[in-house]
Amino acid sequence: IHQAVLGHAVPRHGAATALVDGSDPTGATSVSYALLDVQHRRVAAALADAGLRKGDVLALHSPNSVLFPAVFYGATRAGASVTTVHPLATAEEFAKQIADSSARFVVTVAPLLETARRAAELSGCIAEIFVCDRAEGHRSVLDMFASTAPEPAVEFDPGEDVAALPYSSGTTGVPKGVMLTHRSIATNLAQLAPLVPMKPGDRILAVLPFFHIYGLTALLNAPLRHGATVVVLPRFDLDQFLATIERHRVTGLYVAPPIVLALAKHPAVAQYDLSSVEYVVSAAAPLDAALAAACSARLKVPPVRQAYGMTELSPGTHVVPLSAAGPPPGTVGKLLPGTEMRLLDLDDPGRDAAPGERGEIAIRGPQVMKGYLGRPEATAEMIDADGWVRTGDVGRVDADGWLFVVDRVKELIKYKGFQVAPAELEALLLTHGGIADAAVTGVYDEDGTEVPCAHVVRAAGAGDLTAEDVMAYVAGRVAPYKKIRRVEFIAGVPRAATGKILRRELRERQKGSA
Ligand code: ATP
Ligand code: MG
Repeated sequence: IHQAVLGHAVPRHGAATALVDGSDPTGATSVSYALLDVQHRRVAAALADAGLRKGDVLALHSPNSVLFPAVFYGATRAGASVTTVHPLATAEEFAKQIADSSARFVVTVAPLLETARRAAELSGCIAEIFVCDRAEGHRSVLDMFASTAPEPAVEFDPGEDVAALPYSSGTTGVPKGVMLTHRSIATNLAQLAPLVPMKPGDRILAVLPFFHIYGLTALLNAPLRHGATVVVLPRFDLDQFLATIERHRVTGLYVAPPIVLALAKHPAVAQYDLSSVEYVVSAAAPLDAALAAACSARLKVPPVRQAYGMTELSPGTHVVPLSAAGPPPGTVGKLLPGTEMRLLDLDDPGRDAAPGERGEIAIRGPQVMKGYLGRPEATAEMIDADGWVRTGDVGRVDADGWLFVVDRVKELIKYKGFQVAPAELEALLLTHGGIADAAVTGVYDEDGTEVPCAHVVRAAGAGDLTAEDVMAYVAGRVAPYKKIRRVEFIAGVPRAATGKILRRELRERQKGSA
């Protein structure tokens, strides 16, 4: 993947700026393509010198930074598979990932060093911990840049060798290590490139985490392959995000639905000059069409483009092309070239759904993962003998081939034989002025019927909003079987960094309070 990205960009755009630290108010911290090329080669040399061999797993435990790419590409160049770790993971969670992936090396940052040390201790299989910045007793990535060790000569088999080993988000079960080969990642980049083109002069804001496959592809590999500049932010803070767009004249935003929500509704947005933004892409979780429209109207950009995918698919299968004139509201896009899709009957997955009907999305293509690490049964459940992946998502396709994601199969609420999609009710709830945020789950009532329950965050000034108000609002706008039958008021909707609602957490809270 270092070859597909830097091998492509460096000879063409060596002098251009690859990375800028958006959190540095002086704007002075930047890395050119030529420098990134040298840095990642030095990292590869230093890692090989430290004993890393082809096939070893390196855990990269860092928020977004301008050093992250040098470590990522340096490690793959040395033949490692990089398993990216959530910077907020506890030592126990991190230790599980180390043990599950048999990682031998860790690269962390000084503020997270204690967690990394504890995780290494718990797992017992780490040979060395490096830090990106500096910390006593550890070799640093800055030292690696000065390494005089020879560059390792590694032979690659791009279709077999695992470049990245991200863990799935764990929204529906335990996070699983997803084996993505150099080829599956590079092929997906090539599939996406003509539809969401990037070019020198583009300034792409990287606020979503590089450790997640969406950030890794859209914010690291894609812009760096095409000579664009990545403006790096370590975390999402609305004011810093907006100030960075203004200061660096950001042209492209790749975000998740909570950021679209902030852009559409937050008063702070009006205080910044966001006129440089040419387009907004959203992915990773359901995006309400009305919210998307409000966001694009406010930023005066074309309709927000959605993309769809999953860790197991490197990750993309659908995208709304930047050039599409009038994509239908709510669509996640059209199927990428070289990829096949089927919609499976929800009651009988052995058959295809009737034309125009909803079905479980199944995908076949070159971006399909090699498998889950160490989980042959889970892999076989996910990929059938003919190479089809069951995504676990429900979708429908219109006559022009636009895909709409309805919800996850597992999240569908079965009310008396009818299927109710939480995402649809959540979008509707958000259109109520007194509701700041909402999530819907299925709960069982006294007679064992599963019913939709709304978890509602009241908007400022809507303290008198009642459960009856919420139920009446929805009942007036949906078919009777979709009515909200329970309401809980909560302080905030638990979400992952990518905007996914953590419904499991809501269910557990509810159990705890029952
Ligand atoms: P786990 O598989 O561990 O439960 P996860 O499925 O949330 O976690 P990811 O691979 O990060 O892990 O997310 C992929 C999922 O995100 C898809 O299966 C789909 O449900 C959702 N998703 C991605 N893009 C979109 C989109 N544009 N609209 C709606 N949902 C989306
Ligand atoms: Mg999943």
